[in-house]
Amino acid sequence: MTTSPSAQLIDGVALSRQLRGELAREASALTQRGVRPGLAVILVGEDPASQVYVRNKIKACEEAGLHSVFEKYDATLSQADLLARIESLNTDNAIHGILVQMPLPKHIDPHRVIETIATSKDVDGFSTLSAGELMTGAPGFNPCTPYGCMKLIESTGIDLRGKHAVVIGRSNTVGKPMAVMLLQKNATVTICHSATHNLKSHTLQADVIVAAVGRRDVLTADMVKPGAVVIDVGMNRNDEGKLCGDVDFAGVRNVAGHITPVPGGVGPMTITMLLVNTLEAAQRVAAL
Ligand code: NAP
Repeated sequence: MTTSPSAQLIDGVALSRQLRGELAREASALTQRGVRPGLAVILVGEDPASQVYVRNKIKACEEAGLHSVFEKYDATLSQADLLARIESLNTDNAIHGILVQMPLPKHIDPHRVIETIATSKDVDGFSTLSAGELMTGAPGFNPCTPYGCMKLIESTGIDLRGKHAVVIGRSNTVGKPMAVMLLQKNATVTICHSATHNLKSHTLQADVIVAAVGRRDVLTADMVKPGAVVIDVGMNRNDEGKLCGDVDFAGVRNVAGHITPVPGGVGPMTITMLLVNTLEAAQRVAAL
């Protein structure tokens, strides 16, 4: 009996550190030319997880030498006031990226909010215009999580051309843009979702699997082709309350060629790509 070698770990922390180092140098050069990249982060309400995410984003900005503005509003803030605040940031020359942390209180329509952010400052890449730009291959901002997944896949050295990629999950923020980005790199892409029959029959064909479901053990070792690249976007809690992904890491790492851990895989890359998009937004302004 032969046993498969353990997969190589794709280290999102190390890759993030490297990319943020390069980014800090570019941001510093741009600042010296008179354009300091700036990100505005808006938080409405007291959601504890959102507070942690926002704090991490601001901290990452500061560490990379970016200008950041954090605006925190009470959960009772009206939609009209929030939209007015975004419109004011749209015309603020010190701000190149605007991020409104989701979820918003129930009385605020997230679509209205996202669509109010100027496309040139939509560094989350969530607006319909940004989604259209991605779909048509026009220069825009890629949503940060799938963008980070692409960087993690690229770091393995795999040439995606002609490879079969299976994306599990079809959300507008992760699964769908992920599939489009893989397609742009000439992969043959299958998108699976909750109505997919026999998920295993699809994943077993895959050279690359991206799991973005939000459920533990969606992908187990028997569902993975030996040597496949496995990217785990999921963020769940196990029975001990510890953070875990969608992938049965302990089992799949014995079959896959490369695998991202949770934590330490996709998570740090999401914030890194937000900084990358903010720098890119500022570079576009500087080039005008
Ligand atoms: P979402 O909007 O809830 O989408 C989940 C997707 O999974 C849906 O398309 C759903 O299908 C599909 N699905 C559900 N059960 C399934 C099953 N049994 N088999 C196959 N597909 C199934 O979630 P999301 O926002 O994309 O996020 C997914 C996960 O990634 C979550 O755990 C989230 O916390 C995590 N996440 C992590 C980061 C990060 O930075 N690390 C960023 C974003 C998200 P239907 O469309 O048919 O319902």
